[in-house]
Amino acid sequence: MKRIKVRELLTSPVPGSEVLVKGWVRTKRGNKNIVFIAVNDGSTINNIQVVADASAFSEQLLKDITTGACIAVNGRLVESQGQGQAVEINASSIELYGKSDAELYPLQKKGHSMEFLRENAHLRFRTNTFGAVFRIRHSMAFAIHKYFNDKGFFYLHTPVITGSDCEGAGEMFHVTTLDLKNPPLNDAGGIDYSADFFGKETNLTVSGQLEGELGALALGEIYTFGPTFRAENSNTPRHLAEFWMIEPEMAFYDIRDNMDLAEDFVKYLIKYALENCREDLEFLNNMIDKELLARLRFVLENSFVRISYTEAVAILSAADRKWDYPVGWGRDLQAEHERYLVEEHFKKPVILTDYPRDIKAFYMKQNDDGKTVKAMDVLFPGIGEIIGGSQREEDYNKLLERIREMKLPEKDMWWYLDTRRFGTAPHSGFGLGFERLMLFVTGMSNIRDVIPFPRTPRNAEF
Ligand code: ATP
Ligand code: MN
Repeated sequence: MKRIKVRELLTSPVPGSEVLVKGWVRTKRGNKNIVFIAVNDGSTINNIQVVADASAFSEQLLKDITTGACIAVNGRLVESQGQGQAVEINASSIELYGKSDAELYPLQKKGHSMEFLRENAHLRFRTNTFGAVFRIRHSMAFAIHKYFNDKGFFYLHTPVITGSDCEGAGEMFHVTTLDLKNPPLNDAGGIDYSADFFGKETNLTVSGQLEGELGALALGEIYTFGPTFRAENSNTPRHLAEFWMIEPEMAFYDIRDNMDLAEDFVKYLIKYALENCREDLEFLNNMIDKELLARLRFVLENSFVRISYTEAVAILSAADRKWDYPVGWGRDLQAEHERYLVEEHFKKPVILTDYPRDIKAFYMKQNDDGKTVKAMDVLFPGIGEIIGGSQREEDYNKLLERIREMKLPEKDMWWYLDTRRFGTAPHSGFGLGFERLMLFVTGMSNIRDVIPFPRTPRNAEF
């Protein structure tokens, strides 16, 4: 007999039919005569109730069916006598796949702290909260591909190992096969990377953007969606050392087109979640964040505010507020400033544009004022920066000048510069941090709890 998933059983139940269900025991209760077992198979947040007549099963088997155990149940689907579920299974046979020692299984009682569950990340998938989070994560990944595919964008795979250190987005992880205890040295006494695996120094990528631009300037519109790595030693609830980023890059888009795409894209994903992840979102709304659904709807229904960095600095300077970090034109905005704009001043998502060029990356298109660049950051309530992007500098001479001013390794960037020498074009793009999006969509408060296996300073367990 073919196994049926609980999700299917509950969405289109056929009372009277014989079914086979397989899953993990969430709870067991009952008495000498009758036993109720709640089984979850991960396909939905809801459990199926299995009812077993105690006289029909061995005492030992019923004893071994404890929280966490894995079972297969054959039986008849019937309308439930009890409250809380429409249907239940009258078990005719139960096979025990795996026992779960009640003394040792970590997920016995309810209401574990997030810290405890992080330490048990190998088992936290079996909780309602993490089941919901990771089903939603899947749906968001799928929706991202669907969104771009429907728009005619091409999914471009950019390298995980890169030889370029031009992004400057953060500290990089070195990739090497050299013997760290006894590395080959060059004449100057430094490490001789020409003897390394790739014949040069290599790192894990911090962004697929530069390679993405190469794709956009031939395929038109592309996006990347892959892991990125930053060895930033910042232990915040919004930074990971390994995170996933979505980076669309589009030929013939100016900064305004770029903002329109970013807003449309994020709204599409939120709408997709509301339409396709209903039960999981309702659970999170009840258990994690009572304002979650209202906030998701609010973002859908309102236009994002669009103001310049200069206007933002004026608002922040005029605010009656003591900042931990000073506000002033030319200084980068900190999370406290971003969140003030979004959560207190505008009470809406905000897109900030035209930042001082000295605090932004070399590739951003310079404005005519000689001071600012066509950068855009999208700021979200509870999150701060969720997207960073810009119109790219397409002028070869201006780009080269900036590379030299910033003392970047011009020699290594020949291939990037070539795009501006041969058929350059106006183009734009942005990066959306997948886990920052997940924070927003799930209402979870720590980025470690929206990625299955978080990598953070001093933590690479599992
Ligand atoms: P922040 O100022 O928050 O560190 P950033 O300016 O370094 O962000 P970008 O380099 O513009 O970020 O990267 C694009 C997007 O990637 C960000 O808007 C954010 O959503 C995400 N992101 C950046 N760094 C991290 C990180 N360490 N962990 C998770 N997501 C990140
Ligand atoms: Mn950063």
